[in-house]
Amino acid sequence: MMDLKFFTNFSEHSIADLNEWHEEGKKIAGIYCIYAPVELIRAAGIIPISLCGKKQDPIKDAEKELPPSLCPLIKASYGYAVTDTCPFFSFSDIIVAETTCDGKKKMYELMQKIKPLHLMHLPHTQNGQAALDYWKAGLHELEEFLYEHSGIKVTEEKLRECIRQENLLRSELHEIMRLATDPKSPLSGSELMAVQESKSFTVYPESYLKALRKLRGELEAHIASPEAENNGQLRLMLTGCPVGKGSEKVIRIAEELGARIVCMENCTGLKGMTMPVDEQGDPFEALAKRYLQIPCSCMTPNPGRFESIREMIDTFKVDAVIDLTWTGCHTYNAESTLISRFTEESLDLPFLHIETDYSESDVEQLRTRIEAFIELSQ
Ligand code: SF4
Ligand code: SF4
Repeated sequence: MMDLKFFTNFSEHSIADLNEWHEEGKKIAGIYCIYAPVELIRAAGIIPISLCGKKQDPIKDAEKELPPSLCPLIKASYGYAVTDTCPFFSFSDIIVAETTCDGKKKMYELMQKIKPLHLMHLPHTQNGQAALDYWKAGLHELEEFLYEHSGIKVTEEKLRECIRQENLLRSELHEIMRLATDPKSPLSGSELMAVQESKSFTVYPESYLKALRKLRGELEAHIASPEAENNGQLRLMLTGCPVGKGSEKVIRIAEELGARIVCMENCTGLKGMTMPVDEQGDPFEALAKRYLQIPCSCMTPNPGRFESIREMIDTFKVDAVIDLTWTGCHTYNAESTLISRFTEESLDLPFLHIETDYSESDVEQLRTRIEAFIELSQ
């Protein structure tokens, strides 16, 4: 049986690697979103590390400066910054941020007083040449900011190499996630989440890719072995806001109740693994196109999310959909109405919208709702 410890304890390996990287005098960039073009950051000799807050602890400190009505992800992210209690934030020399939702962009105005921060202006439409040109110009502005901090010029050759590398990582992770299409796959939703999340803490992509390939080989061998059994569980898709270690209560409850999360459409899941960057042509144009197509609810309209959901439901043979949104996340909460109609009316599948935060205060209430949903969906 495969050993997942490497992935479940990935942040510890990462801290050791980041320490080594810093001691060599090299730079680290904190990022908060999958719109951050990691290929460009790496091509400037800087390691991008995810700083998205997923735990309840730092929220009370953030609420001294931010309204309690903001989503927990924003408050946790800011709370870690003001209390300096996240080793990844401490390691970050610079922050790369984007104007996605309103709460995040106003939080960044406060955060820029703590660390040098570059805000990329993201258009909120994916349509038209003007939006693409604007975003592409933003990539060049980011390139300048990165150069100011690392002193390393982005060359076309290096950028192409980083694009190839990130495409390989995303595609290998995607292949691992696709193994969950087989009911004999041994990975639980919490394990899928740990593997998915590991990418955002990767310092050395080559060794990470090797570990992913090894894991895929082990999983494939297990699925093909005679002792692998069809788990026969209700197959759930999780969509909505990003989820990670510390904010996974819905995954945990669904699995304690005997269902299995077989795919996650959110940003910590497949949304960040699909859509390779075109390796031909102008690399800045290719990056701009790929990143602008990310189907986040901050885009309007946001047709890509419906398409991804439809495709994943088919591929992963999903029986029912849970849309998990954080309290205070207006865009995902509002989009939930459209996602619910699409799932129930067009795809004829059971749908449950859960709006919650990072606290454990509603766990029993959630358990009752999820249990009833699982029973109805069998
Ligand atoms: S949900 Fe949207 S804003 Fe949040 S990490 Fe994903 S892409 Fe970024
Ligand atoms: S979960 Fe929603 S409100 Fe929170 S940071 Fe992401 S998009 Fe913004």
